[in-house]
Amino acid sequence: MVPISRVKIMWHSNVRQNECYTIAPFSPLGHFQMFTPLLTRCRSCLRQIFRAALLLSLIAPALAADPVRLVATIKPLQLIAQAVAGDTLAVELLIDPRQSHHDYHLRPSDRARLARADLVLWVGPSLEGFLTRTMRSLTPATRVVMLGPELPAPAHQEHGTRHHHHHGELAQDGHIWLDPARAVAMARQIAAELSVLMPEQRLQWQHNSERFAEAMAELDKEFAEQFQALEQPRSYLVMHDAYGHFERHYGLQRTATYSATPEQQPGVRHFSALAQAIDAGRIGCVFSEPQYRAAALERLVRERSDIRVVELDLMAGAQTVEPDGFVRFYASFAQAFLSCLRQ
Ligand SMILES: [Zn+2]
Repeated sequence: MVPISRVKIMWHSNVRQNECYTIAPFSPLGHFQMFTPLLTRCRSCLRQIFRAALLLSLIAPALAADPVRLVATIKPLQLIAQAVAGDTLAVELLIDPRQSHHDYHLRPSDRARLARADLVLWVGPSLEGFLTRTMRSLTPATRVVMLGPELPAPAHQEHGTRHHHHHGELAQDGHIWLDPARAVAMARQIAAELSVLMPEQRLQWQHNSERFAEAMAELDKEFAEQFQALEQPRSYLVMHDAYGHFERHYGLQRTATYSATPEQQPGVRHFSALAQAIDAGRIGCVFSEPQYRAAALERLVRERSDIRVVELDLMAGAQTVEPDGFVRFYASFAQAFLSCLRQ
């Protein structure tokens, strides 16, 4: 391809047919008229110039356009978006999974990253209330897409028969990626958003999101069978109120919750009730979280050898970012859950 600087053409009195010379395109009109007869002598030369100009007009927008910048606020959303973006586009992450997903102080560099983005994916105020004002302050150049429980739940089958949460209970639970049907619905919504930004790759986004849907459906079926096969699942305690969507999907019922969020420590009365339940052997399994340290609870649990402790990495902190990252994360998350409940 001829670079623009070399498509500069100068009229010269000894222009010969079929030869393309450098022409100064901004020569004064008089100068241009003086050499008008040459135009007829240089038809093939002009054809080449017009062809080059046409080609340039076609490729220039592509060369000028920056790659689309896609930012997800939390790691699970980054992984779902990466499943849709495939190898074409790298999805950026705003909040390190080691930081709190409920209460995080944005740095100026985080704000700048959001402002530079073409598309921002977040769960919404149910999870990331600390982002609400920042999201509102972004200019229309950044499209902000909320994927959270504020949106209607996708039509899906619940596998569990043991227990049913009322849907209203989960309306404010922002840990939506733990419901496989919602993860798939999010992938499809991301595909639709990418199709607006990059319509020429629309089929690719659709194809990727449908591949993701198939992989998730297969995993889901496998785990639904295994959870249903548990005859007497162990009673269990979770560190924070994050697992409602997963539990509803597989019909599981937790025995106790340590605290509502990792930022809120349990009150004295709640803690002593938990201690009693542990002493009485009513807790068979404790799900720890890599980001949540609770020394008082750990001491209680250490004293009892019959309690199983399994780590649940619900923020996918250990998962590498790759197109099948979410599927891998979900498989290991569900496997960890299952391993704790199995007698
Ligand atoms: Zn949480």
